[in-house]
Amino acid sequence: MSHAPIRSVVIVGGGSAGWMTAAALSRLCAAGMSLTLVESEEIGTVGVGEATIPPLLDFNAALGIDEAAFVAATRATFKLGIEFVDWGRLGDRYLHPFGTIGRAQMGVPFHQMWLRQRLLRRPDLDPGALGPYSIAAAAAMRGRFAKPTANRDAVLSGLSYAYHFDAGLYARFLRNFAEQRGVRRVEGRIASIEKRGEDGFLTGVTLRDGRRVEGEFFIDCSGFRALLLGEALGVPYRSWRHWLPCDSAVAVPTERIGPPLPYTRATADSAGWRWRIPLQHRTGNGHVYSSSHASDEVARTALIDGLDAPATAEPRVLRFVPGRRERMWERNCVAIGLSGGFIEPLESTSIHLIQQGILRLLALFPDSGFAGEEIDAYNAWLVEEYEHIRDFIILHYHASTRDDSDFWCDVRAAPLPDSLAERLALWRGKGRLLPIANGLFTTDSWLAVLVGQNILPAAADPMTVLLPPDETGRFLAHLRSVIARTAEALPFHEAFLDGTAAHPLPERRVG
Ligand code: FAD
Repeated sequence: MSHAPIRSVVIVGGGSAGWMTAAALSRLCAAGMSLTLVESEEIGTVGVGEATIPPLLDFNAALGIDEAAFVAATRATFKLGIEFVDWGRLGDRYLHPFGTIGRAQMGVPFHQMWLRQRLLRRPDLDPGALGPYSIAAAAAMRGRFAKPTANRDAVLSGLSYAYHFDAGLYARFLRNFAEQRGVRRVEGRIASIEKRGEDGFLTGVTLRDGRRVEGEFFIDCSGFRALLLGEALGVPYRSWRHWLPCDSAVAVPTERIGPPLPYTRATADSAGWRWRIPLQHRTGNGHVYSSSHASDEVARTALIDGLDAPATAEPRVLRFVPGRRERMWERNCVAIGLSGGFIEPLESTSIHLIQQGILRLLALFPDSGFAGEEIDAYNAWLVEEYEHIRDFIILHYHASTRDDSDFWCDVRAAPLPDSLAERLALWRGKGRLLPIANGLFTTDSWLAVLVGQNILPAAADPMTVLLPPDETGRFLAHLRSVIARTAEALPFHEAFLDGTAAHPLPERRVG
């Protein structure tokens, strides 16, 4: 088997996936590798990925991107979590915050303390809702924002954040970054893809005008079309519609009204849910729905009726099939982005999955031997991540008692993946939340959604006997109070964005 280094890489597609991949690989250009990205302006991009999650900070930092420049270029705002409205029941509202919720005591997880106090059913010891134990939630609900501190004793160390941004501007920002480092951009529409006869490896793509781009390694970032992995290499798509029936979205921007909120809002509707994402210059809005439960016209009307400001463009409909390719890497081609799969945008995980695809590719970057065991490892690694995220998203639909539409009755009645059914059984018994190795969503994320949607365990961990209820009650009251005072003293999100926030920020400690 050859161990010669790969000399030429071709990326097909210039959406967020293509340019994130190009930016991350661009340092290889200095080492002599040729990196070409082909994109078609005529086809365009999906470009609605506007809400992100905290790991994106690591991606940008690894590229050495200056945050202030990035925020300015992408018209970004800061995001502390997602507010879910009307999910568990009509009228319910909770925040899935970034960062931590509460603090463990004597090795007993925070949520077990909280649960035990609740199960005591003593009004004087009632721990209340979860939100006040999270600094991200407490700040978000007050419209305030600050960055976390490194000091683990400080309340602000429990805060974590991400961004809302204009996905088109992010791709443009990364395009500049990548081109400055030697990535070659080719504009044109691909008409055919060539393969080698003996082993089916890809060799090149030919554009409509006859130009040909050759390479040794291909990265398919062509979006839902999956030109290379799907069409040329025939890797099948595994649909998850039986678990996640939403398969359409209608999106429309509106004028900005008032200061931007530091969180995304996801409001459940009768055949899906609606998003509201505040950027610096506008608000992104969309309605994700099941086409089996609502027509495009009904979905469009629900979106327009729910807007809080005038629309600035015509609503745009998008179709998708929730699911993933059976393999994301086949022969000499890896699919990153929508070509590899799409779950649905509820927890803003798509750009994160692009990031994971890139990081794992960097960890297993091939030589010209294309070792089969490395390809298998890549596929197994990503499938695990996709399925963990899938389970978490299904949970939001399953954990609802809404019965006001066929959609809600159908999603709740749908059978669960075994992995999720097992996780729920552990939770319902004694509130067991086992961490998922390398999983994106922490036990605090699962906690926020389970409790937020009224799924509560029958009992608490027996280890809570270590914690006398009155003492625990005092500790929880102290925690709520110190978090509230910290949140109250933070700058308003808008002041933080425009640089007028006062410094230094308060450093309150828990102890
Ligand atoms: P695309 O943006 O579709 O780009 C495909 C590229 O391939 C384009 O450049 C196109 O020109 C090129 N191409 C295709 N065919 C050819 C051809 N024949 N020749 C040449 N070039 C070609 N993600 C989040 O993280 N957060 C969110 O809030 C979020 N919201 C979403 C809401 C909806 C309704 C949808 C559908 C997606 C959302 N996503 C979100 C996902 C996010 O938009 C995508 O993950 C992200 O934009 C990456 O898309 P992509 O680059 O894979 O594909």
